[in-house]
Amino acid sequence: GSADLDCDVLVLGGGPGGYSAAFRAADLGLKVVIVERYATLGGVCLNVGCIPSKALLHVAAVMDEVSHMADLGVDFGAPAVNIDKLRGHKEKVIGKLTGGLAAMAKMRKVTTVRGYGAFVGANHVEVEETTGSGQEKTGTKKVIAFQKAIIAAGSQAVRLPFMPNDPRVVDSTGALALKEVPKRMLILGGGIIGLEMGTVYSTLGARLDVVEMMDGLMQGADRDLVKIWQKMNAKRFDNIMLKTKTVGAKATPEGIEVTFAAAEEGGTAPAPQVYDLVLQAVGRTPNGKKIAADKAGVAVTDRGFINVDIQMRTNVPHIFAIGDIVGQPMLAHKAVHEAHVAAEVIAGELQGNKELASAAFNARVIPSVAYTDPEVAWVGLTEDQAKQQGIKVKKGLFPWTASGRAIANGRDEGVTKLLFDDSPEAGSGDGHAGRGHGKILGGGMVGTHAGDMIGEIALAIEMGADAVDIGKTIHPHPTLGESIGMAAEVAHGSCTDVP
Ligand code: FAD
Repeated sequence: GSADLDCDVLVLGGGPGGYSAAFRAADLGLKVVIVERYATLGGVCLNVGCIPSKALLHVAAVMDEVSHMADLGVDFGAPAVNIDKLRGHKEKVIGKLTGGLAAMAKMRKVTTVRGYGAFVGANHVEVEETTGSGQEKTGTKKVIAFQKAIIAAGSQAVRLPFMPNDPRVVDSTGALALKEVPKRMLILGGGIIGLEMGTVYSTLGARLDVVEMMDGLMQGADRDLVKIWQKMNAKRFDNIMLKTKTVGAKATPEGIEVTFAAAEEGGTAPAPQVYDLVLQAVGRTPNGKKIAADKAGVAVTDRGFINVDIQMRTNVPHIFAIGDIVGQPMLAHKAVHEAHVAAEVIAGELQGNKELASAAFNARVIPSVAYTDPEVAWVGLTEDQAKQQGIKVKKGLFPWTASGRAIANGRDEGVTKLLFDDSPEAGSGDGHAGRGHGKILGGGMVGTHAGDMIGEIALAIEMGADAVDIGKTIHPHPTLGESIGMAAEVAHGSCTDVP
């Protein structure tokens, strides 16, 4: 009755999860409103995440490549970096994509309401208008009534409580702003985001230190792949401090002085160091506690996540949640697939379409990629996990020293690895989680363009392929992707002339 606007579906948050859900719902004929506090759609991914980082990583990769070209007979000389222009390139890339999203929203008649949204009831959200590039609130409020809602409010970078409030301490958003290139930079957290940003800054001239609580960088990936990455990247780092905690930081005129402690009892702590820039990349925290979810009866965990079932439904049957806010892995491609499920279930329920209403998130695997140089990509079961879980696997390992294309590229450090189910109890059928004797369970790659190729391994897992399926698939020669077919042949045993 008292709403300023009403709709079939309200989508809270305009990131990859939010806009994908909104577009799918609109395509299915629903009246959709997106509430987004920022000036553009695209969320973290387009504005301050996936896309700007890749715009900068592309430039860094070309610079690194060119620096090796003298050995191949062409010397380009030292690079002359114009940082304003480089930042401009990144902004242009973002602008193209967010502009495209706005046009797509318009074409689909999706209404975007700019402002900060919070629930005021089970069927109402109140939006306080925001302006500027950030989220300055104007005080003007609007109430939107909805039949169904999709929460896609995402996540934000974790801030260590003892970090001084100082322009020399940044999160990934600050690092992407690329104000200047520091001499000495500390990356706090050895995960993908930190190492990607570190790659950009070190190629531009920064010396890197990295501190990580766990016993290795890039947790989640197999250690043998990470080892190759680390060998290729050793020259970027002064210190890789593993099993080490950051326990204090102080702003001084010379820089940010950071103190460390051993993460384990009996370990030795590195000496304090002074940095020109400290990047906090110790993880992301969901925005679940900031949307007054309780007013709608939606349960939020202590850590701010919203639990959902495989239809992306919260504990409140007409309210759904997707993307970073529902849990790990916090990746854009996961958010997009969850978004489509939520939109389809909602359309199915509102339109009495049983097939749509039974949509569910059934992905067997979600690939991960570190867009570093070389790239590291993995999907499904890793070899380390197989060991920990006592799952017997047959491994097909193909070193790129045997790939004509990799050698021609001057980049034969890569490796492609496939893991097939070798447990006697797996049976021959399409068992639990796709298991069945001989079927592919996972794969990983380190090497240039690994991220562009990992999708094939994901497809093989989703299709329940075995080594013969993959090995007998004709891959074009000479390509890096051939290494996937070769790795399958190695596992199957019909390719014996490989080291
Ligand atoms: P978000 O993208 O976080 O979007 C949520 C949106 O909701 C935001 O726009 C926010 O402003 C809005 N919002 C939140 N609360 C409110 C509110 N109360 N009212 C109004 N609006 C609100 N993932 C990949 O898959 N590949 C990558 O290469 C990759 N690189 C990354 C690099 C960096 C530096 C970072 C930080 C992340 C990266 N990610 C990457 C992760 C990826 O960005 C996220 O997984 C993805 O953006 C999650 O989408 P989402 O829709 O769940 O949330």
